[in-house]
Amino acid sequence: MKIESKWDVVLFSLVVTVTSMVCAVTLNYLIFPAEYLSRTVPGTMVIVTLVTIPTCLFVGSKIRENVHLSQELRRLVERDRLTDVATRDFFFNRMAKVPDAYGISLMVDIDFFKRVNDTYGHLTGDRVITHVASLLRGAVRPGDIVCRFGGEEFVVFLADADHTGGAAMAERLRALVAESPIDEAGTTLSVTVSIGGSLKEATDHIETAIQRADDALYRAKNGGRNQVHMHPIGNPRPVAVGETS
Ligand code: GH3
Ligand code: MG
Ligand code: MG
Repeated sequence: MKIESKWDVVLFSLVVTVTSMVCAVTLNYLIFPAEYLSRTVPGTMVIVTLVTIPTCLFVGSKIRENVHLSQELRRLVERDRLTDVATRDFFFNRMAKVPDAYGISLMVDIDFFKRVNDTYGHLTGDRVITHVASLLRGAVRPGDIVCRFGGEEFVVFLADADHTGGAAMAERLRALVAESPIDEAGTTLSVTVSIGGSLKEATDHIETAIQRADDALYRAKNGGRNQVHMHPIGNPRPVAVGETS
């Protein structure tokens, strides 16, 4: 039984009280001779009710508080506070659970972001980061992960994507950001992103794939920004027996 709402606390108290009452009355039947029961049973029921209900309400509300605290703690660890996409910790924990995952890692970095901060201030900068995060999150499939990797950098993992599909998706994300300006205090503000991509094969560590994506990002930046560069290493996914390609 999960105690999350006030009604859960009331239900918990009722269940414990009724259970305690059944146990206490049964004990009465076991301990006292039949002629005493008409006096002992009502007294027992009153005592059980008076003790159990307030105790359960108190304990139940403490359990509810702890459930809320642990949910909040989990949210803080798993979701980035500013953008509400996955945190770096959550990303690595999730990838550690599927070490043989095959897919494309994209390193996405907002271009000349320092200028946004310097020109419009940090709060506008924050809104731009959030805007880009929600564009990325809205564009990927449910099984993919978007994570805020650092200040204005995101890692997107496209599960099961190969080089061709990953490059096409990266290009879609790049174009989406470039074509989705943000309205900020009467000004229309456009930003672009550079994207480096790399294939993670089943035998690759996620850190290796990210390092390669980072190298590709470096090339995209050097190539003039607002572009996608894919790291060349990686093979098409081997076709499993019985699987059609
Ligand atoms: P490049 O095109 O090479 O990526 O240039 P850039 O200006 O985007 O990169 P640079 O690394 O020089 O600057 C990134 C800036 O991002 C610097 C830092 O102050 C800012 N930044 C990092 N985290 C946050 C944040 O949470 N909010 C805001 N507003 N700014 C941030
Ligand atoms: Mg940048
Ligand atoms: Mg950066």
